[in-house]
Amino acid sequence: MSGITIALSKGRIFDETAPLLAAAGIAPLENPETSRKLIIGTNRPDVRLIIVRASDTPTYVQYGAADLGIAGKDVLLEHGGEGLYQPIDLQIAKCRMMVAVPEGFDYESAVRKGARLRVATKYLRIAREHFAAKGVHVDLIKLYGSMELAPLVGLADVIVDLVSTGNTLRANNLRAVEEIMPISARLIVNQAALKLKHALLQPVIEAFESAVSSHA
Ligand code: AMP
Repeated sequence: MSGITIALSKGRIFDETAPLLAAAGIAPLENPETSRKLIIGTNRPDVRLIIVRASDTPTYVQYGAADLGIAGKDVLLEHGGEGLYQPIDLQIAKCRMMVAVPEGFDYESAVRKGARLRVATKYLRIAREHFAAKGVHVDLIKLYGSMELAPLVGLADVIVDLVSTGNTLRANNLRAVEEIMPISARLIVNQAALKLKHALLQPVIEAFESAVSSHA
């Protein structure tokens, strides 16, 4: 396609990206929360949005099916980031990647004693690197959601998950014991598109950049 395709996921990312799109003069013609369409036009005939699963955003941009995308740092680290230019931390969808345990579990002592921990998470790469750097031996158990349940039913000792308000942990009698890293969403750009469509993409990237710095 000769125009610009932007890959976004529904929910937090779409909601928090809308003001940035507006700053770039881009207004979606439909709301993906209510529309079932996966390709959404905008007020600009040369700009369209595609609605993808959050963890698929880097893949669409990597292969050039989308020129731009917005993805959490968590998703980018798990994907690996190959073929992607990551020019801006958009400072949206902020949260923290944390290690959490059930209230009664003495994490600090388990780590001190060199215990082998069962860790349930969607974020295998991040978890593997975190525990390897600490010298903690772990068995990683891949889950696709509701990680908070795993330690409550004996599937794991520990979880690695995103925490925003902490309400989900509290509601499930879990406590955060370690912050692995702060997380926010990034603009990602297909490296070939950045060269071939520079004149089209650069103003959008710059509009995002100035919208972000004016809120800093
Ligand atoms: P909270 O109860 O506010 O701490 O939110 C925790 C739940 O929301 C967890 O299940 C997280 O996986 C999810 N979550 C929180 N923040 C984000 C984010 N920025 N991006 C994706 N998922 C998130």
